[in-house]
Amino acid sequence: MATINRNYRKLAAGYLFPEIGRRTRAFQQANPEAVMRRLGIGNTTEALSPTVIAGLERGVRKLADVRTYTGYGDEQGNGELRAALSAFYARGGVTVNPDDIFVSDGAKPDSSNIQSIFGVDNVVAIQDPAYPVYVDSNVISGRTGEMDEASGRYDRFVYMPCSEENGFFPAVPDGKVDLIYLCSPNNPTGAVATHDQLAQFVQYARNVGAVIIFDASYSEYISDPDLPKSIYEIEGADTCAIEINSFSKFAGFTGVRLGWTIVPEALAAEDSLPGEIRRMWLRRQTTFFNGASNIVQEGGLAVLSDEGLRECHQMIDYYMENAHIIREGLQSIGLTVYGGDNAPYLWLKTPNGMSSWDFFDKLLNETWVIGTPGSGFGPAGEGFFRLSAFGHREDVEAAVASIVERLQL
Ligand SMILES: *Cc1c(COP(=O)(O)O)cnc(C)c1O
Repeated sequence: MATINRNYRKLAAGYLFPEIGRRTRAFQQANPEAVMRRLGIGNTTEALSPTVIAGLERGVRKLADVRTYTGYGDEQGNGELRAALSAFYARGGVTVNPDDIFVSDGAKPDSSNIQSIFGVDNVVAIQDPAYPVYVDSNVISGRTGEMDEASGRYDRFVYMPCSEENGFFPAVPDGKVDLIYLCSPNNPTGAVATHDQLAQFVQYARNVGAVIIFDASYSEYISDPDLPKSIYEIEGADTCAIEINSFSKFAGFTGVRLGWTIVPEALAAEDSLPGEIRRMWLRRQTTFFNGASNIVQEGGLAVLSDEGLRECHQMIDYYMENAHIIREGLQSIGLTVYGGDNAPYLWLKTPNGMSSWDFFDKLLNETWVIGTPGSGFGPAGEGFFRLSAFGHREDVEAAVASIVERLQL
């Protein structure tokens, strides 16, 4: 008889977004006149830029002509795209060998699959709160025990709390861990690690032989020139870190699907020589994945052209202006807000010590605005609330105006 992977039963019941939907629908039914305003989504909303559309169209047209038609491509991704990504890093002063770049269908698949090339006994450290994928992929793979209902923590995970006290970026773990997930700029807190903070993690990882999995999906939202966009800005990071990135938030490719992961040749684990982890990821991808869409990779190339980059940064500026509008509005009524400077998320401290879900209900009832309870991203998110800068300007303005006029504090 077949048996199931019982680790799935350990997962917290995919509770956050369904519960938001349930409460929202119940409120709408009871208040049919209410106009709902969403400030909670982690999804892009603006149209792709003309240069990127032209790139995607080029990709389609190539398939229409037998002389330019292609089937399966290079397994690691189109060589021209990997060279363009390498040049993109070089502009930021970072050397990345195109051979170490693996083009994929997105950062979420890569950040959930990457754990599969590491031993099941590895001790995993995660930021708390965190993007749920890092947690769930390791639970499913058996690197945790059960979740303790009282603390909301999984047995065997090492939690690195991100709080007001540490500016929402953790210190390195006290003991020895093996895999460390870092996300900067951070979803959900909007915090960005400094050069010094990342250097401490790189130092720690090199000392104990740990591997850092660095999710840089929001790197292009960094406008402060002193903040690192890539972990490879830190010397020695190529020996201890994997970096994952995506065109989703960078270029609005959430529905188009394109990302990349860098597994440097120099990277090594406790029981491997340099090069083996890179070859294992190649083996993993060629076994389970047949490459990103050739049409979409043409779109990625267009993103990385001078004109494409200029247009994508206009779109990022638009979202960041939304972030500015949200922050100004909330601060004007005395709320405490973090993030939103170099990331499209704002991390609101709930007023009067309310729980995240109580504040969700209050915001919904009084202002018809829907956000995301911070506790849904981990126990240290309790007492916080995530607001997203993705949205059409008029919707963001209406939501902020509603909060300013109607929230009772
Ligand atoms: C949105 C997001 C991603 C992007 O995932 P894709 O699969 O590339 O769309 C990755 N990591 C974080 C933290 C995100 O918020």
